[in-house]
Amino acid sequence: MTAPLTGTVAIVTGASSGIGEATARRLAEHGASVAVVARRKDRLDLLVKDIEAAGGTALAVTADITDRTQADQAVQTVVDRFGRLDILVNNAGLMLLGPVVGADVEQWERMIAVNQKGLLYVTNAALPHLLEAAQDELRQVADIVNISSIAGRVAWANFGVYNMTKFGVNGFTEALRQEITKKHVRVGVLEPGAVDTELVSHNNEQVKNDLAASDDIAEPLQPGDIADNIAFMVTRPRRSSIAELWAMPTSQA
Ligand code: NDP
Repeated sequence: MTAPLTGTVAIVTGASSGIGEATARRLAEHGASVAVVARRKDRLDLLVKDIEAAGGTALAVTADITDRTQADQAVQTVVDRFGRLDILVNNAGLMLLGPVVGADVEQWERMIAVNQKGLLYVTNAALPHLLEAAQDELRQVADIVNISSIAGRVAWANFGVYNMTKFGVNGFTEALRQEITKKHVRVGVLEPGAVDTELVSHNNEQVKNDLAASDDIAEPLQPGDIADNIAFMVTRPRRSSIAELWAMPTSQA
């Protein structure tokens, strides 16, 4: 049987670790040529080697998506290399927690830059190519999956600006879905609960200790679980669009 994404081209941002890395592997297993985008070139190069060793096709694109020129160039590099773009997974993200009172405002700016502006820059650059792919004989449909969070649905103290960025991603995703769904570009948001990745590690010791002390999740999701969900979203029949998927660990209330 032919793999469902054979002939398609996907971009996964934030693919140097965690959910993005697992998603790149999964989409390649399903037959997509996968461009992996992040800042850590060494990690991307290793991932490309792995995907190719498993028989897939991948391209490492080193870019800081908070820089609009780099985001534009990243998308152009992919289209120059593969000639098309069918799937965009906006996954790159940063979660820096702590009280609003007395906050390090530079941390807010970094989160807004990656979680919102970066997502917008890559989406803006990708849209013409996705709209074109949706007209193409191959699948007659294209996909954007935006990785939000349970923190895009529920707000908690100490998550303020992270909450704001992810609530924003949810709103933007639905507005864009309504704008282009009839052009057969599916736009969906995926909201994971706790996933075992590097995400928390970028916080200061106080935040990490507080999180560890309040952690009652016996078994968080693994990155591959979210990769499975993304693969599900982008392999539905053309008529079927998953606008929102909330993916929780069974042990997270
Ligand atoms: P990781 O920290 O493992 O991955 C984050 C990725 O984003 C890395 O590959 C990082 O690569 C990339 N990234 C960060 N800044 C930039 C930038 N400026 N330009 C390009 N890439 C960048 O965490 P996760 O895999 O957990 O996070 C992936 C997404 O999932 C995020 O949007 C996060 O908010 C979301 N999420 C995660 C949950 C969890 O519990 N882990 C729960 C809910 C949502 P590099 O540093 O090499 O640039």
